[in-house]
Amino acid sequence: MSDTSLLTEGFRKFREIYFEKSPELFRETLRYGQNPKFAMVACSDSRVDPAIVFQTDPGDIFSIRNVAALVPPNEDQGLYHGTSAALEFAVTGLKVEHIVIMGHAHCGGVEAMVRRQEGEVVGGKFLGQWTDLLVKARERALSEDGTLEGRALLRAAERQGVKLSLQNLMTFPFVSEAVAQGTLQLHGWYLDIAEGALEYFDGAKDTFVPLT
Ligand SMILES: [Zn+2]
Repeated sequence: MSDTSLLTEGFRKFREIYFEKSPELFRETLRYGQNPKFAMVACSDSRVDPAIVFQTDPGDIFSIRNVAALVPPNEDQGLYHGTSAALEFAVTGLKVEHIVIMGHAHCGGVEAMVRRQEGEVVGGKFLGQWTDLLVKARERALSEDGTLEGRALLRAAERQGVKLSLQNLMTFPFVSEAVAQGTLQLHGWYLDIAEGALEYFDGAKDTFVPLT
């Protein structure tokens, strides 16, 4: 079993870079609170850390991570809505100017949903119900191209998942009202970590377009 030196050594580097080379960031700015312009919903997947992917500093991104980078629909029932609570705070408390949904290729959460839909027993007490929020993403991918299967179906379902989360975002009144007032913009992005490529969802054309 490996020890935790990867993390403790990393913390030493963090302290050196952020506290010793740019102490004003922490001692003069961040100690008084956070004021991020961006909230990002990203997957818990260890390969898609927003701060690394976008090379940002502490205080830049309010990061909301869960399996498959999902935004659930606004629900009045239920008790423990971690993602919804974080979104509410980002919009009403921090008044972020952008919410980015960042889906990604080779997402295990999307694959779990597709495999469940194909009859496999995948996921435990919590995971299956959570990823089933994405069932419509698979259905929409197949309604656009009924021949999709295997990896092509997964890639299409991953992109449809981003669109679905964008739609679910708008079911929260604090989101739709801020969008209507022009104080909040929503973005759907799709990261292919294997290719080092990023796409954004162009709503007018209803398609994903390379960002770089
Ligand atoms: Zn994922």
